[in-house]
Amino acid sequence: MKDTSNRRLNPRTKAVHAGTRRSQYGEVSEAMFLTQGFVYDTAEAAEARFLESTREEFIYARYGNPTVAMFEDRIATLEGTEDAFACASGMAAVNGALISMLKAGDHVVAARALFGSCLYILDEVLPRYGVEVTLVDGRDLGAWRAAIRPDTKAVFFESLSNPTLEVIDIRGVCDLAHAVGATVIVDNVFATPTYSRALELGVDVIVYSTTKHIDGQGRCLGGVICGTTDFVRKVAEPYLKHTGGSMSPFNAWVMLKGLETLDLRVRAQAETCERLARELEGHPKLARVIHPHLASHPQQALARAQMDKGGTVLSLDLAGGKVAAFRFLNALEIVVISNNLGDAKSIATHPATTTHQRLPDGQKATLGLTPGLVRLSVGLEDPDDLIADVLAALDHA
Ligand SMILES: *Cc1c(COP(=O)(O)O)cnc(C)c1O
Repeated sequence: MKDTSNRRLNPRTKAVHAGTRRSQYGEVSEAMFLTQGFVYDTAEAAEARFLESTREEFIYARYGNPTVAMFEDRIATLEGTEDAFACASGMAAVNGALISMLKAGDHVVAARALFGSCLYILDEVLPRYGVEVTLVDGRDLGAWRAAIRPDTKAVFFESLSNPTLEVIDIRGVCDLAHAVGATVIVDNVFATPTYSRALELGVDVIVYSTTKHIDGQGRCLGGVICGTTDFVRKVAEPYLKHTGGSMSPFNAWVMLKGLETLDLRVRAQAETCERLARELEGHPKLARVIHPHLASHPQQALARAQMDKGGTVLSLDLAGGKVAAFRFLNALEIVVISNNLGDAKSIATHPATTTHQRLPDGQKATLGLTPGLVRLSVGLEDPDDLIADVLAALDHA
């Protein structure tokens, strides 16, 4: 396949072919260009390339690399954005997207329910450099309206929050932000590229931790910033390439191959996730089962309007608190205790004592992060085996 970027192909075709660059050998599988540098034919050619280089001319892997470029073009084509910049981790991408566009005196509005490291950037790093940050209840459009001001530069949220799976009215928030000319940046991990409609709903910059579903087998760290060519190449890239946040060619190769199977994996995982949520709802040991597409989710209608499926993660609130949660975790035989998500292996996490341990108790309570809460990232195992494993472990809780 030649150039897929301008053709109306369906996502699964793009995920397999988009961005491919072949060497003179015509390899079928994408080559891994494990090189930090590139040779110039002459001194004049080196000078010319440093002056100006095209997307097919490389200088140094921190600036760009053919394998990384293939990954960037493939994910941008899939997400529907003009361009993408691949980063060393999801956090390099979140940090890069925000810091590269902000300066002292700017104002940012963000949802309060955030991944711990995202909260650290918004709550501790940005204020230290004179950026004012207002945190709001992301579910409340009125709170966004009240917080967004004429001088607001950026708006940041997770499309589905971790681990309580709160849903943000993406179009509503984008309209409010755009009315004052603010840039909307979304951390889209929980939506995944498969169920993402971020661009269509008005988001300007879409960020992924590719460590999650895009790798999908828990091997490498990575992140990516998707947006307009202007934002990606003129705002994000200069900051990231000079501060060391670029993705390694090896990781880009893993992510590139991960994209080929992403859709199949995510759909199977989301299917099992919803089935598991339905089987578990009403279980006597559970105070709550949180899944965006269950009728019991307070924002089910919005979640259904924004995503074809509820994602690959559900949360369980054990009625017996921390003691019951730990007994449940320790009794699981197939599901492993860890903190990644989007992996082929199902993973259980106790956020209050691990990923969100640092948060003060008051803040945990505000976010609904109860001592009995367990996050389950649903993998690719047989659904019947998974359901049996979770039910047996609940017996021990
Ligand atoms: C994991 C995660 C990140 C951070 O990604 P890394 O690749 O671990 O740096 C950011 N946001 C969300 C929602 C995540 O789940």
